[in-house]
Formats: sequence, C-alpha cells, structure tokens
Amino acid sequence: LLVTDFLHRAREFFPGREIVQYRGGETAHRYTYRDYHDRVLRLAGALRELGIRPGDRVATLAWNHHRHLELYLAVPLAGAVLHTVNLRLEPGEIAYILGHADDRVVVADTSLLAALEQARADRPDMLVVGTDGAGPGVLDYEALIEAAPPLTDPPPVAEDDLAALCYTSGTTGFPKGVGYSHRALYLHTFAACLADGHAISERDTVLHVVPMFHANAWGIPFAALMSGASQVLPGPHPAPADLARIIATERVTYTGMVPTVAVDLMREATAAGTGLDSLRALVLGGSPPSEDLVRELEERLRVPVFQGWGMTEVSPMGTFSRPLPSSEHDATARRRQIRKQGRLLPGLRWRLVGDEGRDQPHDGVARGELLVRGPWVASAYFRDEHPECFTDGWLRTGDIATIDPDGYLEIVDRAKDLIKSGGEWISSLALEQALVAHPAVGEAAVVAVAHERWQERPFALVVPAPDAVAEPADLLAWLRERVPRWWLPDRIAVVDALPRTSVGKIDKRALRDQVAGGLFDEVRGR
Ligand code: ATP
Ligand code: MG
Repeated sequence: LLVTDFLHRAREFFPGREIVQYRGGETAHRYTYRDYHDRVLRLAGALRELGIRPGDRVATLAWNHHRHLELYLAVPLAGAVLHTVNLRLEPGEIAYILGHADDRVVVADTSLLAALEQARADRPDMLVVGTDGAGPGVLDYEALIEAAPPLTDPPPVAEDDLAALCYTSGTTGFPKGVGYSHRALYLHTFAACLADGHAISERDTVLHVVPMFHANAWGIPFAALMSGASQVLPGPHPAPADLARIIATERVTYTGMVPTVAVDLMREATAAGTGLDSLRALVLGGSPPSEDLVRELEERLRVPVFQGWGMTEVSPMGTFSRPLPSSEHDATARRRQIRKQGRLLPGLRWRLVGDEGRDQPHDGVARGELLVRGPWVASAYFRDEHPECFTDGWLRTGDIATIDPDGYLEIVDRAKDLIKSGGEWISSLALEQALVAHPAVGEAAVVAVAHERWQERPFALVVPAPDAVAEPADLLAWLRERVPRWWLPDRIAVVDALPRTSVGKIDKRALRDQVAGGLFDEVRGR
C-alpha cells in the first residue's frame, strides 16, 4: 500500500482527466493526468539529482497550485518525506519547524521567500527551489523538471516508511510534528473518501480550498487521483468571489473548507447570483459550524453539507456526517444531528473518558475526553515526546465530546477551553454558539478569566454582524433564555475583530493573554 500507487492508477485508467490551475479567478493552465504523471516522474528524478535520498525531508511553502500537487506525489516517489509548512507562520516559527524537521530542500513560492530568510540563515546547507522562477540562491522548478530524466527506477519503499510530515496548528501550544506512513495515508484515503455516501468518483470535479499545507488537504487529492476525479486549484490568495466564480465555471461538484470560509463563499455566491448548484458535497471541518450556516446551505441553497471532525494526528479525518435527508424520517434525524460532527470512520475505534478516567456511556449526554486509535492515528510525535497525549496506544485528542445512541459525535469544547466555575464546567463553545445565533452577532469568543470566588468566570467578546449593532444588554437577555443562569458571562465586550491563528481559527491563547493584560477594559460592553 503506497500512496504512489494512486499516481500510476491515474495514468493508467484516467489519463485524460484534468488538473486545472486558476489564478485570481481566471484559468491559468489545464493539463491531464497523463501530463501530470510525466511531470511527477521528472520532478522525482530532479529531487534525486539534487541529492535527495530515501527518508530525507522535503519541505513546501506554497499556495494551492499544480506544482504543489506535483510535490504531493514526487516527494514520496523519490522515497522522501513531504513536509508541508504552514505559510502563515511567522519567519521565526518557520525557521524552528524547518530546523526541527531537518529539511534538506524547501520548495517555495517566490512571494513567500521573504518568510524563509531566517530559516536559510540558520541552515545554509538547505537547498531552495522556487516554484515560479529562479532568484539569488534559488533554483528554478521548471528548469529542474526540464533537465531531469524521469525517475523510472524509484528506490524501494516499505509501506511503514514515512511519506509525509505535518505540524499541528499550534492552537494550544507549540506545533507538534506528525509523521504519516504510506500505509496510513493509503488507508485514510480509502476510509475518508468512501465513508457515508460521499464517495468521490470519475464524475466529480474537486476544488481544493483548504490550504494544501494543512493535513485536512491531503486525503482529497489522493482520493481524486485514485478515483479519476478532475482537480481544480485556486492559486494564491483566492478571494471568496474567485471561489464562487470557479465553482460556477468549472461546475465543481465537491469541495471542503472551514466554516468561516463557507460563510464568505455563501454571501458571495448569493450576491453574484451564481449559486452553488453544481455542488453535490460541501465538507465543513476544522471548527464547529453554526447551525444557521448548515441550514442556510442545505435548506435555502440545497447544497448537501457533510461535517467532519479531524485533527492533524488523525491524518486528519476521524468522523463524518451524512448529507441531505432523502425521506421525512431522515429529515427528523438530520435535525437532531445538524450540530454534530458525525460517525466514526471504518477502521477507527473510539472511547469517551470522563474526569475519573472512567469510560462514559454513548447516550448523547455524558461527556468525556475523546480518545481514538487506528491505522492512521498517530501513536507518537515526530522527534518529540508528549506522553500526556497518549494512553495505552490511544491518542488523547484533548477534545471534550458526547456520543449519542445513533453514534453521532458532538464536540463540546476543547479541554483547554472549558471554563471551571465554582466546581461546575461551562462550555465556552456552547456559549459562543448561543451568541452567534443572535442576528446582530457575526462572531463570538468566550474565554475564562480568573475569579477569586469562582476560580474562573466566562468573558465574552463579540464582533457585530455586517451593518448590525450588537448591544451587550440585548445579548445578555438573549442568553438568559438559552443557557443556565450561572453561565451568563460576567462581561460582554463588543470588538471589531478577533485574533486568529495561522489557519484561521480564533486564537484563544492570544485572547486569554489580551484579556488578562486588560486590553478590553475600556471597550464598550457591560
Ligand atoms: P494544536 O494541536 O497545535 O494545539 P490544533 O489542535 O488546532 O493545534 P489541528 O490538528 O489543526 O491543530 O486541529 C484539530 C482540532 O480542531 C481538533 O482537536 C478540534 O478541537 C478542532 N476541530 C476539528 N474539526 C472540528 C469540528 N468539526 N468541530 C469542532 N472542532 C473541530
Ligand atoms: Mg491539537
């Protein structure tokens, strides 16, 4: 089971299916899987000529484009390990990660080279290849491909060898490296791409919106190659309007994104009148979507929404939800499930472990920390010990959840974001969802502040919806109807924006520091 099998299969069975490269909403380039196969073999040959040996790490710092997609297969074909680096990290963080992974080569977009300066100074031996041209000390990607002989005698690779490496988002601490074997990625592709009726096939056109440096972006390109779907890449900085236009022009049938991007896309598609009617599947993951978003997409726009829960350590998909109901009976079930993240993928096992280390019932009420294990679940980190993250072969996800009798997971909160007030837990996530359901609220974040008597109390920050005025007193009245009295935030502050992590999640770590540092003391609120 090698991921490179997907490449050869695409060449053999789907040689005419296409890869389409956009730039700023315009097509820049189209080519076939036959051409892709040829280019990947030559790129793998070029990597060998650069001195890449089996087991070496090759990093990418790149947007979603066809060259990045070529590296997804060329690096494992050369026996090396594809290390996709988050392009929104600070130069210091990039230098740390490249040093930690000990990458021999980094392939980068020209527009991102400045972020590499520190890493290059730290590691003068590291080769740099530019995806869109040569520069000082930078080799030209296209020139390398043209000059290299195709790699027709790839080094022997075992299925337990690493094919890829990715670091976590760093939402709760320093990013941790997760290595993926060929076998793990292969089985993950099968399970994630066939489970629960969302099978990708030759009839699909897949648009890659999730940044390709993120583990969330991996399974889908492999599945597309495996099953002969065409693939569309939006290029650097795709604006929501570009995405809406690409979906309409290419008749995209399948795509996935984080909920915030879906909100923007929906607004653009509605404003432009293009609709999203070609989509047969929109996958939301990475953070919980609001109920309103799922309803709008499903009920008004008739877009089947799948939800998934995953994490870098799970390659990344762990659970998957069903799409639009086909019967009234299903519709009732769907209403119960709309906030939930779905059922466990085949091949994985799970547990819910409560405070005292006891397994909790799957009754939809009892909560505990979610533990998972399986062929594509990490059992260690790359070059780091984190014993607190593993117990007896199980990964401790750090997510607090319930599982209902239908087998649907619901993430309640991250363990680190739960607020402990007077010995009782308050879910910051549930408070945020209640706030966002108010029409005047665009976004909300709730964090704990230290309290002498209650240990911790909730502090809410809200960003008003476009053109709306959010009144703290109204929001408090709204919450009173929806959450227990003792959950009511001690303060609600109205702000213009919330800090985000490099992948676009609300950065609660930064928020907690800002709140503790008194940054919001003067802000309008209650
Ligand atoms: P770090 O581990 O470095 O702190 P991170 O956990 O944010 O960062 P990722 O692996 O990118 O890094 O994210 C996985 C986390 O994202 C999950 O543990 C979970 O908390 C959250 N998540 C993913 N999908 C969903 C979802 N559908 N609903 C709610 N939360 C989700
Ligand atoms: Mg994590």
